[in-house]
Amino acid sequence: MERAEATGDDCAVLDCPGWGTLLVTTDSVIDGVHARWHVDGPGAFGYKAIARGLSDIAAMAGEPRWAVLAACLPHDVTEEEAQALYAGAERAGCKLVGGDTAFGPTPYAVGTVIGKAHRKGPVLRSGARVGDWIVVTGPLGGSLASGKHKTFVPRVAEARELHETCDLSAMIDVSDGLSTDLHHILRASRVGARVDAAAIPRTEGATLGNALDDGEDYELLATVRPGPLPPFATRIGVVTAKDAILVHPDGREEPLVARGYEHGR
Ligand SMILES: [Mg+2]
Repeated sequence: MERAEATGDDCAVLDCPGWGTLLVTTDSVIDGVHARWHVDGPGAFGYKAIARGLSDIAAMAGEPRWAVLAACLPHDVTEEEAQALYAGAERAGCKLVGGDTAFGPTPYAVGTVIGKAHRKGPVLRSGARVGDWIVVTGPLGGSLASGKHKTFVPRVAEARELHETCDLSAMIDVSDGLSTDLHHILRASRVGARVDAAAIPRTEGATLGNALDDGEDYELLATVRPGPLPPFATRIGVVTAKDAILVHPDGREEPLVARGYEHGR
């Protein structure tokens, strides 16, 4: 390995001469925080621990290759529950090549996913340029209420198609909420944005506030040079030189404030 970078992106980026660029990401699912062991079931822990990692690989337009799962099981776990946890992890769709099992009072699962960057390179958060379009891959809002956060399909194929058919400049997966994740791109790219509130695709029953701030949607939020878009991508705004502005259908403008999940809170 010649180079290893902590870029603040969705995955660590490691150059492996002769092989390519490795993407590595790790995510936790903790009982009572990201899922509920006795309500959602062990399968949701395994699935979500790996699927969150796959979504991070997608956020950089990479190809997931392998996954490992570490889990802490409650002392009274049954054989069926343990099997359901690992079956859930395998259902996420990445080859499980190892892991660890421990026992303790708070169940959790930690999924690590290893992927390979696309030959065009990984898509970072820092590449957005003034005039780029801001796009999302699907409806936002209400993921926790609807249960989508346990069953979402990571947008791996959509990310690859965007990278191959559009001039992608920055990308992230919407885990913290559109308002917060857009700010992650804007901060890394040192740019601003104008977002058209009416253009944001919403999950049925979700309000604009839900779509902006709920999080755990695991759709992709990207910036692209203007041009033809795949049918799954919806244009919601444009990159500007500074400030983040939300434009309402009546023309009213307000600052687009990051009100999603803040790490370390
Ligand atoms: Mg992410």
